Amino acid sequence: MAKELYELNEAIPVGEVPKKMYAMAIRKERYGEPKNAFKKEVIDVPEIGPDDALVLVRAAGINYNNVWASLGIPLDMIDVHVKDQNDHSGVHIGGSDASGIVYKVGANVKNVKVGDEVVVHCGMWDVNNADIKAGKVDPIVHTSNRIWGYEVSYGSFAQFTKVQAHQCLPRPKHLSWEASAAYMLVGATAYRMLMGFAEHTVRKDDVVLIWGGAGGLGSMAIQIVREMGGKPIAVVNDTSKFDFCKSLGAVGVINRKDFNHWGMLPHWKDEAKYAEWIKGARAFGKAIWEIVGKGVNPRIVFEHPGETTIPTSCMVVDRGGMVVICAGTTGYNATVDLRYHWMHQKRLQGSHFANDEQCTAFNNLVLEKRIDPCLSQTFTFEQIGDVHQMMYENKHPHGNMVATVQLG
Ligand code: NDP
Repeated sequence: MAKELYELNEAIPVGEVPKKMYAMAIRKERYGEPKNAFKKEVIDVPEIGPDDALVLVRAAGINYNNVWASLGIPLDMIDVHVKDQNDHSGVHIGGSDASGIVYKVGANVKNVKVGDEVVVHCGMWDVNNADIKAGKVDPIVHTSNRIWGYEVSYGSFAQFTKVQAHQCLPRPKHLSWEASAAYMLVGATAYRMLMGFAEHTVRKDDVVLIWGGAGGLGSMAIQIVREMGGKPIAVVNDTSKFDFCKSLGAVGVINRKDFNHWGMLPHWKDEAKYAEWIKGARAFGKAIWEIVGKGVNPRIVFEHPGETTIPTSCMVVDRGGMVVICAGTTGYNATVDLRYHWMHQKRLQGSHFANDEQCTAFNNLVLEKRIDPCLSQTFTFEQIGDVHQMMYENKHPHGNMVATVQLG
């Protein structure tokens, strides 16, 4: 008979599900800086449906999405839970990466069983939708797609998490529980961006420019490009990050602090300001040529900073190349000089997480030991708010961070 509540790191017999659990929860009244938004609370262990699994969380990966959830922008997640899932608990349990053990499965579940060691990907959708089942629509593009531990509550910042069973993939046994929790969200996102859009998947010798090369997405992107035979060039804000990017396979690294033309494009009629901007963008392009050769432009630019960098990305990407973007960390408005965009037939492609096949393909690269999760630091459960604060202030270490949850 399971106890009502187990202490953190107290052994919980496999398959025994308590009524209550500890969670690092966000509530509306605490919205604001992440360090104040999270609080350790005792809440009910969620009920699961027929297509779901309940996973005991060993370790939880830290991602930027719960910085957004703490701030309550661009969307108020607790309102989203009410409107979207009829969840009136008033609580948001974040956490979109986990390693753990399956403790319970729903009646329809066939891919995992109680006791399996898994990593969890964060893509959810209506698994019973006819078009998805028939393969007519990519589920991560379907209107029902949601990110677990962000748009849907009961993520990994709790002793137990409720997931759709298809989110569970085999855990790489050569890694620790902590390293296993570090890579899936950023890795699968980067995989789709680089391998998901035909015509512009990474080919041998392709030059790929990667913003934030030492960050979560960037560290995965460098390795994927390397594994596909391409030439990754990383951009960072400090020379101290150069060696890390090179150790992952970057053929060169650029310090963005050497340039100051960032931000939106000046109006094209303002000739003096525009000339100044384009001088900066061309100098940045020259820095790429210094690495890969004069006239060699990136066929793919891996974007996520958004507003401040996208004008440059769209300028330096090769004729017929693609800028692929999954975020707008510095702002959501993109200014692009369309003259270059159409004349040079460039592509600006949006991307968001990944589907089951892409998550599996990326997980296989980790299982085959071809990709390192780049776990930089492990924190305690109680430090989850502080770690998100570090991320918010861009003061976090390179690579990916995790918090331990229920290691006992
Ligand atoms: P990290 O903080 O780990 O890395 C982001 C990197 O961006 C930093 O290392 C930093 O590198 C760089 N950066 C910060 N400010 C700027 C700037 N002004 N100009 C250029 N580069 C900058 O975060 P993640 O890689 O995990 O995530 C990045 C973004 O992508 C977040 O907004 C996140 O929410 C989003 N995301 C979206 C996903 C999706 O599916 N849509 C999935 C995963 C993440 P440096 O300062 O060294 O240049």
